[in-house]
Amino acid sequence: MEQTLKHLVDCKHVLLASHGNPDGDAVGSLIAMGLALESINKKIYLYNNSPIPAVYRFLPSVDRITRHINHSIRFDTAVILDCGNLERIGPAVSIVNKVPVIINIDHHITNTGFGFCQLIDTFACSTAEIVYRLIKRLKVPINSDIATSIYTVILTDTGSFRFSNTNQAAFAICEEMTERGVKPYEVAQRVFGTYSLGRIKLLNLALDSIEISYNGKLSIMTITQDMLAQTGTKSEDIDGMIHYARNIEDVKVAALIQEHKNGAGNPKCFNRFHVSLRSDGTVDVAAIAASYGGGGHSSAAGFGIETTLADLKAEITNLADKL
Ligand code: 5GP
Ligand code: MN
Repeated sequence: MEQTLKHLVDCKHVLLASHGNPDGDAVGSLIAMGLALESINKKIYLYNNSPIPAVYRFLPSVDRITRHINHSIRFDTAVILDCGNLERIGPAVSIVNKVPVIINIDHHITNTGFGFCQLIDTFACSTAEIVYRLIKRLKVPINSDIATSIYTVILTDTGSFRFSNTNQAAFAICEEMTERGVKPYEVAQRVFGTYSLGRIKLLNLALDSIEISYNGKLSIMTITQDMLAQTGTKSEDIDGMIHYARNIEDVKVAALIQEHKNGAGNPKCFNRFHVSLRSDGTVDVAAIAASYGGGGHSSAAGFGIETTLADLKAEITNLADKL
């Protein structure tokens, strides 16, 4: 912490980045940390390699997050948020690797410890909790923009205070954020309030795709490019759907297979997939994800893989034997 603080006090041009296909933590921590550094006169650049999901586009300064980095800027510091490994940020890795000081702020158990300074706390409910502590130590006043970002992260990353990462700090920080002007109802309306008809139709297809292993302990939900096209939805609309597969009685592990864009939709065709894993808390899915080159938390993890849909399903189904 002390080393990180010293760097943040001394730095001038800071590149902040979080993981692609961002969730609330990736977007909100990026903004909160960026605005805090800006308020102590640092030049900040916010980077994420993916479009920001519609539900987070209400966040303050969200339009300042860019997908392209100006090569002429000489960054002295890079702050990497919510990434278990540096490659999670995407193509900017080559630029970040040239930045003299990389600060790694994260709460994933599988974090590789990359960077010059690491602020990793696997007990933090979210990366934003660590960002909050840093902001306090930097003595930056928390204005309503920073408060909204931090509150939104904690609300979404804890699944509205339901997931196993919900800790005492989640409540304490959120209470303080309401004192700083956050209106819980307004944030909830933005984040959970409205769904497009397409998303509901996609949910219908996703629910219909659920398969259960012979012993009832593992469920698989599959979302193909064809389903997205059919319902006019985007991959960001898939967010949260895995919980239906996870909440089925007796299921210990749920897998959500998401077909990537290059998919031919043919179950025998070689293709790229993202697999999300969730457990009921009794199974360490971060270890499973790590064995495929991915990572995450013990009850929520993921990995990318290139294979056929049929082989992938068979591989995941085999995991049920050990549950
Ligand atoms: P999701 O299933 O929502 O994509 O991810 C669940 C958790 O696992 C998140 O904390 C996410 O950051 C992490 N995760 C997902 N995919 C990967 C991956 O390919 N590599 C690593 N290291 N972590 C991942
Ligand atoms: Mn996170």
